[in-house]
Amino acid sequence: MSTLLLHHDVFTEHAPPEGHPERPDRMRAVERILSHPHFEELRREDAPMGTQEHALLVHPEDYVHMIEQSSPADGLVSLDPDTWMNASSLEAAYRAVGAGARAVDAVMNLEVNNAFCAVRPPGHHAEQNRAMGFCLFGSVAIAAKYAREAYDLDRVAVVDFDVHHGNGTQDIFWSDEDLFFGSTHQMPLFPGTGAVSETGQGNIFNAPLSAGDGGDVFRDAMLSRIFPSLDAFQPDLILISAGFDAHQRDPLGSLQLTEEDFAWVTLRLMDMADKHCDGRIVSMLEGGYDLSGLSGSVGVHVKSLMHGSGQRAAKDSVEAGDE
Ligand SMILES: [Zn+2]
Repeated sequence: MSTLLLHHDVFTEHAPPEGHPERPDRMRAVERILSHPHFEELRREDAPMGTQEHALLVHPEDYVHMIEQSSPADGLVSLDPDTWMNASSLEAAYRAVGAGARAVDAVMNLEVNNAFCAVRPPGHHAEQNRAMGFCLFGSVAIAAKYAREAYDLDRVAVVDFDVHHGNGTQDIFWSDEDLFFGSTHQMPLFPGTGAVSETGQGNIFNAPLSAGDGGDVFRDAMLSRIFPSLDAFQPDLILISAGFDAHQRDPLGSLQLTEEDFAWVTLRLMDMADKHCDGRIVSMLEGGYDLSGLSGSVGVHVKSLMHGSGQRAAKDSVEAGDE
């Protein structure tokens, strides 16, 4: 098996105001864990620039121009109280998009089995017409639409286990029955969407969890709601919105997941990908705001992608990731 890691230095240069949780140190924590010898076999590439054409797959032209024109030469601008741009943010957002598209190419062309995009800013809160929740472009939704367009796929699925509901991906997928969105998330919590009753064209599957819920409830939600609907959908490609803020240490969420839960869900999604789409998975980083929770979780997630169920004990990378 082989796994591609897409990354770029600009992802640490995108910086909101001091004290903001979605901070460059997150990326440094991810870089640190993935530089451990356990990850030597990763194939590594710089995330290329995505294009306007990519962004236009899911956002209207006015919106893309607004994002481009908001980019400051220096200093900071806010698009909403949570969502900021500095001089590097536009490039980072476009490279996050480019990472997703390149990962799709690599997986579809059989260069690798699967791919992880270690990117900032995240993307799953960006709606067609609205930047919010630290997100500028809907990177994972763009990757889904790009995959369908470039490779003539019939059905593409996004599974999102970030603690926050991926309202942006849901918004973009809402009217398109050949795009699947399945999400576990804490509710109530930002952004407020994600009820079971939000079903789009029968292609949206929300499984809200309650504050305090742990791995048993999370796994049950996956097993009872997300996986059966994903199985019935028969995806040609599975994308993961890999947010790790459902970790028990995370300051923005109150779920109680551990590294073992993230390894479990990764392996189960790999089983699903083996069954339906020759193992094709592209995973993109979303949230995760406790640095050791984030790095340990990214470690087991990527290790699972690399080695499948043959991975060495998940604890190895957790220990290596401890700060
Ligand atoms: Zn989140």
